[in-house]
Amino acid sequence: MPTKRDYYEVLGVSREASEAEVKKAYRRLARSHHPDANPDDQGAEERFKELTEAYEVLSNAEARRAYDTYGHQVPRGGGNGYPGGYPGGDQFGGGFQDIFEAFFGDGFGGSFFGGQAARGPSRGADAEVEVEVSLREAAYGTDREVNVQIVRNCEVCEGVGGTESHTCGTCGGAGAVRTVRQSILGQVVSTQACSACGGRGRIIDVTCDNCRGGGRVSDLQTRRLRVPQGIESGMRLRVSGGGHAGEPGGAPGDLYVRVNVTEDPELVRDGEDLIHRLQVSFVGAALGTEVEVPTLDGPSPVRVEAGTQPGATLKLRGEGMPRIRGRGRGDLKVLVDVMVPTRLTGEQRELLERFEETSGEETYNGGGGSFFDRLRGVFR
Ligand SMILES: [Zn+2]
Ligand SMILES: [Zn+2]
Repeated sequence: MPTKRDYYEVLGVSREASEAEVKKAYRRLARSHHPDANPDDQGAEERFKELTEAYEVLSNAEARRAYDTYGHQVPRGGGNGYPGGYPGGDQFGGGFQDIFEAFFGDGFGGSFFGGQAARGPSRGADAEVEVEVSLREAAYGTDREVNVQIVRNCEVCEGVGGTESHTCGTCGGAGAVRTVRQSILGQVVSTQACSACGGRGRIIDVTCDNCRGGGRVSDLQTRRLRVPQGIESGMRLRVSGGGHAGEPGGAPGDLYVRVNVTEDPELVRDGEDLIHRLQVSFVGAALGTEVEVPTLDGPSPVRVEAGTQPGATLKLRGEGMPRIRGRGRGDLKVLVDVMVPTRLTGEQRELLERFEETSGEETYNGGGGSFFDRLRGVFR
């Protein structure tokens, strides 16, 4: 490799040049030497890298001091923050494109740095909101609008936080600083958010009033979503891109919607089945009766056969919840409660006493003692 040119010479500035002068020189030269602007010039890429390396060192106060003292060959462990050399040349790494993008925005440098893993602006954070749906809405699906507090980039300052700003001198606009330290395993290079600019790469001169310098504002936004049929309480739906804004140029996060299915007073969900407790008078259970039971589609007539026992289950096939995946629906199970009257008129009491006399013990076990058999089954 040929001898490295002096960084001041590369940028065409004096050793006393201010940060602003260094920046101005880089901006002017980088535009004219950018490889995209010189597609037929083989040397453009090398010249451009040289320029950007010079800029990164000279725009960083600490690196510039070390360069002024040691030149290109910074001694190891020199206590200047760059013991292994400058963050230039072969060690240039990820800061290269970041600097360029901080200057010119992405898109311009993209094709040139195509071979490098582009970090790009960060994606926005995910947002989460809860929504309540009725059991019937859960069964058949529903469209919902949800209101959610969403962070977006300030439109006045385009997310910078200031209406006037300059590139951070500490990180050269990269938003991150690399530190190299020695350990028993060798050099350890770490990257941290720049504390001088808070990782933004720019120092604010005039704070934006609209966002009070934060670069971001939030407001209540409406998002539409489809709640699919068969959804269960606690499931989360994702609205792609419905979350908080990313860094300027970055993709927004997603919105996650947690669905709560409110309890229905008449129908209790049991997986894909529904359960309804039906109250039948003891006379109705004994003689048989026609009743209505609630279903997802409204009341449905059901025949309670004579001699139906307490705890019996009637099944309405296909009247349960639609399956969230696959076809068909579960069943509606009707649990029969037999109501025993607590207050009897004199006449009713007489009738029941006469009934008792005419029937005898086996009336109660007439159904094969199924109720007691069931009871025994429970305690066995
Ligand atoms: Zn703003
Ligand atoms: Zn910085």
